[in-house]
Amino acid sequence: MPAISQTVDRVIQAVSIKYNNIVYEMKQAGDDVIVLSLGEAFFDIPLFPMDDLPMPAVYHYSHSRGIIELRKLLADFFAKTYDVHFDPETEIIVTAGSKAAIHMAFMAMLDPGDEVVILEPYWVSYTEQVRLCQGVPVSVPLETPVTDLERFITPRTRCIVVNNPNNPGGHLYSLAELQTLYALAQKHDIFLLADEAYSEFVLDPKQFHSLGSVDKHFTHSIVCNSISKNYGLSGWRLGYVIGNPTLINAVLKVNQHLVTCPATILEHYIARHFYEILEITRPQIRAVVEKRAQVLAYMDKIGLKYLPGDSTFYTFVSIDPSSLDSDAFCTRLLREFHVCAVPGIGYGASCDRHIRVSVGTESWERTTRGLDIIRALVAATTPR
Ligand code: PMP
Repeated sequence: MPAISQTVDRVIQAVSIKYNNIVYEMKQAGDDVIVLSLGEAFFDIPLFPMDDLPMPAVYHYSHSRGIIELRKLLADFFAKTYDVHFDPETEIIVTAGSKAAIHMAFMAMLDPGDEVVILEPYWVSYTEQVRLCQGVPVSVPLETPVTDLERFITPRTRCIVVNNPNNPGGHLYSLAELQTLYALAQKHDIFLLADEAYSEFVLDPKQFHSLGSVDKHFTHSIVCNSISKNYGLSGWRLGYVIGNPTLINAVLKVNQHLVTCPATILEHYIARHFYEILEITRPQIRAVVEKRAQVLAYMDKIGLKYLPGDSTFYTFVSIDPSSLDSDAFCTRLLREFHVCAVPGIGYGASCDRHIRVSVGTESWERTTRGLDIIRALVAATTPR
C-alpha cells in the first residue's frame, strides 16, 4: 500500500473522540453511561422558518469572506458588546467552524519549523493543527503565569495561543493578563491568537475581554470565535476569524482553496436569527455556568480538587493521589463504572494528574453520581 504523509501520521487522534466513540459502542450494547466527556452543552432551540431566506442565493456559493450581512452583524455585535472594532469588508472571514478558522490562521502565519507557544491545559487540536502546518508546538506547563511566558519564546516563535475562557480549565483571562500577553507579542513581533469559542460561558459578562479591546488595531492579534458553543449549533459548522487585513487576506487565500465558503443557507439563517437565538441560549448558558459553580461546591464537599476557574462548562479535576495515570484512570472509570471523563494527558504533558469533567449534558443527579464514583476510584487507587 502506498505510504501516507509522515506529517499526518504523526498527528494524534483527539483523546475525547476516542472515549466518546467507546461510549457510543457501550450505549449501542445497551449500557447506561454517565457521559461527562462531551464537548457540548445541549440547549433547547426552536427551528425558525427557512422558507423566507433569500432564494436562489441560499443554493449557491457565497462570498468567500462570508455573506456581508453576517459580517456586518458580527462587526456591530463586537462593537456594542466588547468595544471591539473591525472592518467587516476586510478584517473578518466567516468560516466552516472555528476549528477551520484556527487552522487556516496557523497556515497563514507558519513556515516549516516555526513555533507556536500553547498554554496547558490546551484544547487538543491546537498542537495537532500546528503539526499539520509543519510547525512546532511549544507547550507551557500547567499554571505557568503569563508573566513567565517569555522564556518559551525563541527566534522561531510566530504565535502565542490563548483560549479565553479556557477549555478545559475554565480560566477567564483578566484584562491585565491580556495586556501582558499583547505586550509580549508586540515586543517579539509575533501573533497572539485568542480562541474565544466559549465567550458567553462566563459568570459575569463584564469580566470577559475580547482580545480586540486590548489590541485595538489588530496589529498582532487574531480573534477566533464560533457559532457552535454560544449558540448551541455545533452541527452547523459556522465560525469566524478576525484580524488585520494582511493576515485576513492570507487566510482568505487558504479558505478559497479549501472550502470556498461555509454553507450559504446557514449563514443567511444565522444572519436573520442571530439575536433571537442568543436570547434563547443566554439563560440556558447562565444555568449551565451556575450549575458548574454548584458542581465545584459539590467537589469541595466530597474532597475532589480542580483547577481554579469559573467559566465554560468544563472542570479539570485532579485525580491525585491516585496511582493511575489519567488514561488508565478514565479507562477504568468507563469500563468498570460506566462513567466517561476525558484523560488530562490529552491536554498536555503536565496534565496527567487531571481528568476533564463536562457538566454540559447530564442532569445534576447523574453528574454528582459520576463525581462520587470518581472520588471513590481515586480513593480505591491511592497507595496506602
Ligand atoms: N476551540 C475550542 C477551545 C473548542 O473546544 C472547540 C470545539 N470543541 C473549537 C474551538 C472548535 O469549535 P467549532 O469548530 O465547532 O467552531
